[in-house]
Amino acid sequence: MKRVGAHVSASGGVENAPLNARAIGARAFALFTKNQRQWKAKPLTVESIEAFRANLAEAGIAPRHVLPHDSYLINLGHPEPEALQKSRDAFLDEMQRCEQLGLPLLNFHPGSHLRKISEQESLAIVAESINLALSRTSGVTAVIENTAGQGTNLGYRFEHLAEIIDRVEDKGRVGVCLDTCHTFTAGYDLRTAAACDDTFAEFDRVVGFDYLRGMHLNDSKPDLGARVDRHESLGRGKLGWEPFRYIMNDPRFDEIPLILETVDPDLWPEEIRHLYALQEGQ
Ligand SMILES: [Zn+2]
Ligand SMILES: [Zn+2]
Repeated sequence: MKRVGAHVSASGGVENAPLNARAIGARAFALFTKNQRQWKAKPLTVESIEAFRANLAEAGIAPRHVLPHDSYLINLGHPEPEALQKSRDAFLDEMQRCEQLGLPLLNFHPGSHLRKISEQESLAIVAESINLALSRTSGVTAVIENTAGQGTNLGYRFEHLAEIIDRVEDKGRVGVCLDTCHTFTAGYDLRTAAACDDTFAEFDRVVGFDYLRGMHLNDSKPDLGARVDRHESLGRGKLGWEPFRYIMNDPRFDEIPLILETVDPDLWPEEIRHLYALQEGQ
């Protein structure tokens, strides 16, 4: 079964996110478990954690269909020790918040080398950051997202994801999330079924579908290979509907969160309905 949802608001408390997901007809969702633009956050209260679990059950969504996203401030590949430590501390806090909420996944962007070290050196630092976080938590998988490759961001080649995974000690607690907009603007075509065949075959060869823990379903404002991260509503960007028809009819994408991060939340209920309607023979 396909599990489509969106990155919903958790404003007023994480416990509101499952209700916001249910209201738009979602069978999965993403959320920030703290303010994504601040380093520090108050710990989750027992009341908030209990209400989250209760609302999740009420929404009929399983914890493995929730894909929390970490703060945009965190850079696990930072070239400077002090800033790196700040990121590692914040990432551990994010992992522990997932642990407390009973959520088995945490999605994050790998990091940036900031032109101070090589991509290879920075990727090794990212892997070590993951190892440190995994050694101090249990039950939460670190889900690396591929990126558009904007600026000095790592993760725009499938090889980057593979290299990080290769250096992670506990292979059972590392996975990846593919963002369709990032994949496309990083230079992997998805505009036709044949292009999807090729791109996902390359992903399978380099990384492996066994590691796929989620997808971000976004159309793209920029063109193929632009290395710019600008999402668009489904069907209104350079991708069109074909990649989403492909994904909705391919069992390799069953039972993982398929998350919209498209630009107009008012369209999410319609986008979710449209995605399910693309499924053939159901
Ligand atoms: Zn994304
Ligand atoms: Zn993006």
